[in-house]
Amino acid sequence: MKSYKELIVEEITNTPQAKGNGKLLVLMDSRASFSEMLVVRKGVLPLLAHYGVPFAIRDLAGAPLQTSEVLNSRCVIIAHERMVRAFSKGTIEALKVGLAHGTGLVNLDGDLYHASSELKELLGISLQEAPLLTDSLQFSQKPHFIIRFKEPGQRLSWKRPLTLYWAEEMEDDWQVVASGIMGKEQLIVARHLIPEIAVVPGQYPAIAVKNEEKGKIVQWFLSPRIFLPDFLGHCKGMDDILAGSIIWATKKPFIYNSFPPFVVFRIDDVSGAKGLRWLQTAAEVGFKCAPSIFIDRIKGDSLKVARKLQEEGKAEVSCHASSYYELMGFKFGYGPHKKEAVAARYEKMRKFFAQNRLRIPKTWNPHWGEIALDELSEMKKLGARYILGHFLPDDAKHGRLNWNPKPYGSVECFYDYSPNDPEIIRFASMKAGAEQDFLEGLTVFAGHSDRNQIDAIIRRGTEQITWGLSCGFHGQLLTHEQKIAVISDEDWEMILRAIKENIEKFNPKFALLDQIAAYIESRMSSRLKSVNVEESELLAEFEGNTLCDMYLTRADGDEEISLDFITVGKFKNDATFSA
Ligand SMILES: [Zn+2]
Repeated sequence: MKSYKELIVEEITNTPQAKGNGKLLVLMDSRASFSEMLVVRKGVLPLLAHYGVPFAIRDLAGAPLQTSEVLNSRCVIIAHERMVRAFSKGTIEALKVGLAHGTGLVNLDGDLYHASSELKELLGISLQEAPLLTDSLQFSQKPHFIIRFKEPGQRLSWKRPLTLYWAEEMEDDWQVVASGIMGKEQLIVARHLIPEIAVVPGQYPAIAVKNEEKGKIVQWFLSPRIFLPDFLGHCKGMDDILAGSIIWATKKPFIYNSFPPFVVFRIDDVSGAKGLRWLQTAAEVGFKCAPSIFIDRIKGDSLKVARKLQEEGKAEVSCHASSYYELMGFKFGYGPHKKEAVAARYEKMRKFFAQNRLRIPKTWNPHWGEIALDELSEMKKLGARYILGHFLPDDAKHGRLNWNPKPYGSVECFYDYSPNDPEIIRFASMKAGAEQDFLEGLTVFAGHSDRNQIDAIIRRGTEQITWGLSCGFHGQLLTHEQKIAVISDEDWEMILRAIKENIEKFNPKFALLDQIAAYIESRMSSRLKSVNVEESELLAEFEGNTLCDMYLTRADGDEEISLDFITVGKFKNDATFSA
């Protein structure tokens, strides 16, 4: 019988990989423990795949790294702890030559204390043997590409203290972009968990960067175990830091297959308040809007506004429910309606859309998240393929499960095939809890606040979009019509303009949900299988099929890094693209 360790190493080495000199080289050492393999398998590889980074995996257990392998890659990622201590002289020499020729290095093994003197000398760092422990980071006040989604000095905390290797001295050319914070509380914990530690509270380097000859190095002192749910997990504020470390360090130009920065404005519970003037305004400001309507509530003039915006490609109207407590296939909070009742409700919906000359979108946004299993076949009859949110058919909201959707098992940011039916895709990109709605608690609606807190609304709206983009998903601004209705027309326009201005630096592509959904499906059914770069020319090979135009992200520049989106187009049965 194979051990879990052997099985996980097999899973790692069987991960789909990319060829060509435009790829990254992910180093692992299968002689290290099961825990380290878990970090690679659950923490690092899914993130690389999600961000569309072309990579190959190299197990150092077989043989030392060759210089030619490093020179044939844009960046080397040391993907787990307890690896550098076993580096041979040849491996270190290969990394050194790589850096001299511009191949980047991202080292997630902060345990340099146990590394050889050659590696210490190459990096110019000396460490204490005893590690620190911390449950909080502070990102630098000074801007850097790696922390571009963070506010200056922003903090992040996680569940329980995690290893932070103690860099006591670093050469001057290092710049710290994130620091571990040790306060009294962490000190008390640390004294119980690790020996010989009694340092003064303060800040200690967690992630640092430097240029080395033509190459760039990102050194993590914080353990990459941060990406396992025991500590923090994915889509909780560190994904952009690892992705950013890689994009920054990698030799340019660098081509990868990330999601473009799509941004959608989703509005639930739409009954036609203020004759949908607020929707008109959002479209005028430049947002692509996804209003989801109560078909028994919305009336005449509002429908005209919705239709016009739909014809102009500025809005996409979906059926949210009949009314607040009348869902399409589910008895609110109880269970699914009978098959015939579901069919009758869908027929009513179909007629409603036809009579009002509205197009039925492919993406469903069910009110309350509750749907009946029998809705799936009715949906498909209407040409729909995608459902927002993770609630499984026939489950009441209170009994909903986390079925660990891909890529990470997060139910806030994910895309995966519906467990009941692979012809249907589920997806979401949102923050957890009350922050899912950017107006929640910040308006006079239902007495939530004694005034509309405009500044806080702008901040939360900006954060919502930035959140999705930082996690490599689409940005979604989300609220409910009831809350918009209590904001004056002037304030509403000002709020949306301010949010739009705040996200401008991320080069947003405003898009409707169906466009985003088609892109998600295309990403799920295709893959970048090789990238070659000669000078500034590139050749990318894809496998699979797509439903829509695809984009490649091209990173250029040395200190000032620019990200451009190159249209690859739509393809069937593989494609080669050059630029
Ligand atoms: Zn709703």
